[in-house]
Amino acid sequence: MDRFLNELRDVSVINACGPVTRLGGSVMPPEVLQAFCDAADQAVLLDDLQAAASRRIAALTGTEAGLVTAGASAALTLGAAAILCGHDTARMDRLPDCDGFPCEFLVARDQRTGYDHAVRATGARLVEVGINEQISGAGVRRTEIRDYESAIGPQTAGILYTLSTDSAPPLEDVAAMAREQNLHLLVDAAAELPPRSRLREIPASGADLVAFSGGKAICGPQSTGLLCGKRELISSAALQMLDMDDHPDLWTPPPDLIDVSRVTGMPRHGIGRAMKVSKEEIAALMTALEMLVSGRFEPLCCEQNVWIRDLAAVLEERSIACRVREPLSDEQPAVLEIPVDPATGRTARDVCRMLRQGRPSVHVGHAGLSEGLLLIRPECLQAAQMPDLTDALCRVLQPPAE
Ligand SMILES: *Cc1c(COP(=O)(O)O)cnc(C)c1O
Repeated sequence: MDRFLNELRDVSVINACGPVTRLGGSVMPPEVLQAFCDAADQAVLLDDLQAAASRRIAALTGTEAGLVTAGASAALTLGAAAILCGHDTARMDRLPDCDGFPCEFLVARDQRTGYDHAVRATGARLVEVGINEQISGAGVRRTEIRDYESAIGPQTAGILYTLSTDSAPPLEDVAAMAREQNLHLLVDAAAELPPRSRLREIPASGADLVAFSGGKAICGPQSTGLLCGKRELISSAALQMLDMDDHPDLWTPPPDLIDVSRVTGMPRHGIGRAMKVSKEEIAALMTALEMLVSGRFEPLCCEQNVWIRDLAAVLEERSIACRVREPLSDEQPAVLEIPVDPATGRTARDVCRMLRQGRPSVHVGHAGLSEGLLLIRPECLQAAQMPDLTDALCRVLQPPAE
């Protein structure tokens, strides 16, 4: 065991990139780790634990029910599976084979992401709609509601929407159209927290199901996520994830999570059985969620934002250009932008690579590389790493002496 901890030390890096999966995601607070440990030595009925989580998720998100999932990605798979199958056990048993029932999800062409593989994993087919002429540079229009409407047909099962700060058309409008057309709407809101008010605002938009990541701003285990929304859909999702190895005549799932009156027979292990979550993960994620909602992460966030401003002051003293993108609230991170002038003979990508190759290895945000910007995000930084991060940046970015 000790030997493997050494391996871990050997591959550890400074994460100035935010809670990304590639770097191990967010840092769990001690209370969350404690909840994980406290759950470890108890045998529980997992269905009942998920039912208890469902009640709290419902209360905290303003929805009817919720489920702890193996990441937002698994929440998307389970959400799509719920929309495809409802309470039809024969369909649940058959996924990802969707022959004989509607299995198309409409998605705005510019909302396709690598994560929608999770939806396609159910057997669903994505039908792209709309055109983003702002991106193609050929005009000013983007996907419109009528683009969805004209694509609806007998094979349409639902609508997939990826939420971001500039997703279009607005979520509320797509939700209104979906309701009118009697189609279920599944929303990928994995990275749309903070602010924590979004936990309620997004479901309130009228979406039937919303997926959040548990290992990003919620600071739960990296392997967790949340699915919340309509009770009947969460019931179907739970049936397709929970372990079904029981005798049908002994099977008594919690009624507020699973509506047995709707199912004919007991389904076998569903498509989500491959995405199970443990009792420890459920206990830890729910603890993290309670902390986020009660504002317990704010003091650390404010402290981390001070580290970013202090770092900016040091860089400026060394004549290294940078700019702090100030947050809109005390719950959000300040982000340091460092422009790399290609006239120095190095691009932002080169500098990013040099930082990764340094000792200690430093990973900075790479979302601005095409505009020549390095981004320093504080969420996953530790106070003790700041001197090393500051040194690494100064070493790589220091302009040559006159
Ligand atoms: C991070 C992310 C996901 C995946 O979330 P996990 O919890 O890692 O499964 C899905 N969609 C979007 C838009 C994301 O940013």
